[in-house]
Amino acid sequence: MTWVITRLCRDCLDLTCLEVCPVNCIVERTGEPSPEWPNQLYIVPNECIDCGACEPECPYEAIFEEESVPPEVSDDIALNYRVEDHRDEFATPPGSSDGTVPSPEEVVANKVKWGVPENY
Ligand code: SF4
Ligand code: SF4
Repeated sequence: MTWVITRLCRDCLDLTCLEVCPVNCIVERTGEPSPEWPNQLYIVPNECIDCGACEPECPYEAIFEEESVPPEVSDDIALNYRVEDHRDEFATPPGSSDGTVPSPEEVVANKVKWGVPENY
C-alpha cells in the first residue's frame, strides 16, 4: 500500500512532510514546468514504506492512504503512480518548512477550492 499526495498540496510552500519521510520518497518535478505535472509534491508509490509519518504533518491535509483518497480528487492517485515511470525527472526538494501554518479557515478554503468536503 502507498500514500498519495493530492492536489490539496498545490502551491504549498510548507514542506513539513519532507522532514519526516524516512526514505525520501516525497519528491518534486525538476526542470521546466509542464502542464502535465501540476506544481505540487508527489509520493513515489513503489518507494513509500507505508509508515504514515507524513500524513499528520501536512497542514493542508493533502496526504491520504491510497484507499482513502476523496473521490473528488481520486485522479491524483494515478498522477502519483505516474512518477514511477518518470523517476529521473523527480527529486527530493531542497529546503524545509518555512514555518508558515495555514489557519483553519485557509485549510477549509483550500478544500472547497478543490471540491473536497470540509470533513475529509
Ligand atoms: S506539507 Fe502537505 S501541502 Fe505542504 S508540501 Fe507537503 S504534502 Fe504538500
Ligand atoms: S507514508 Fe512514510 S514512507 Fe510513505 S511518503 Fe509518507 S513518510 Fe514517506
